[in-house]
Amino acid sequence: MATTLFTSSAGVFRGNLHGHSTHSDGRNSPADVVRLYREAGYDFTCLSEHLWTDPRFSAPTVIDATAFDNPDFITIISAELHCPGKTHDRDGLWHIVANGLPPDFPVAAGSETGPELVARAVAAGAYVTIAHPEWYSLTDDEARSLASAGAHGVEIYNHSSAIESARGGGIATLDLLLNEGHRVYLTATDDSHHVPEDAFGGWVMVAAQSRSAGDIIASLKAGNFHASTGPDFTDLSLDGAKLHVGTSPVDRIILAGDRHRAEFVAGSGLSKACFDLADFNSAFFRVVAIDAQGHSAWSNPYWMDDLCR
Ligand SMILES: [Zn+2]
Ligand SMILES: [Zn+2]
Repeated sequence: MATTLFTSSAGVFRGNLHGHSTHSDGRNSPADVVRLYREAGYDFTCLSEHLWTDPRFSAPTVIDATAFDNPDFITIISAELHCPGKTHDRDGLWHIVANGLPPDFPVAAGSETGPELVARAVAAGAYVTIAHPEWYSLTDDEARSLASAGAHGVEIYNHSSAIESARGGGIATLDLLLNEGHRVYLTATDDSHHVPEDAFGGWVMVAAQSRSAGDIIASLKAGNFHASTGPDFTDLSLDGAKLHVGTSPVDRIILAGDRHRAEFVAGSGLSKACFDLADFNSAFFRVVAIDAQGHSAWSNPYWMDDLCR
């Protein structure tokens, strides 16, 4: 009897978890952002505006764009939270993405720390992500402090950082936290400010009960999604110790575990692979599929002790 880890047979919804509009420092109006993501075939997007007190780039309020929602497209009330105390940032500010916030979520008090801000957003019900670690040189101690405060995930691909500064990654931060026992997930996002030029490059595919903010946030918190810059997982299932992976056509399927443990299958136009976890000897695994253009799909991490229960 196979155990499905992620499948597209239920509803799977494509969305952007990090983006900006004229409410903060984006170029497009909120209505424009919603229209362009909807026209690009997305199921949802987020106006995760900079929530802070500096009028050069931020607004002191969370925007509620749910008036633009349609039966086939929704927005999730979100923000990119800031407060002082981050090293290696021009303004000394933390950047923390929170999806599924209440619209009256208050801007940080001047004395609030990054970990305190994470904890407050988690308590308010949000799915909270450590934003663009590579772009602003997040230190290992900073990553640990946010994960310990309850951050759910790490942005391992930030499209605007990738195409504008070649600093779009976050796998090193993710794997450090995983190796140290933090159970965090991974996201790919756009962080778009100029749609469409810096949009549609990184997204999540969320298996949820419905295209509603509540169901999508619940699936994010449960890790029932994967991240992509192109390829898709069609199947991730366990049959005993055998892990079956189904993908859109790719050239490489990689099983990555703790430390530098990894196995791979390579070939032109692969759409499936099977790995034997009995010999893998790792506390967790995650799967990466890479297509001929170099675009990737990343599964979330799965922990062996969860799967063996
Ligand atoms: Zn940011
Ligand atoms: Zn941003």
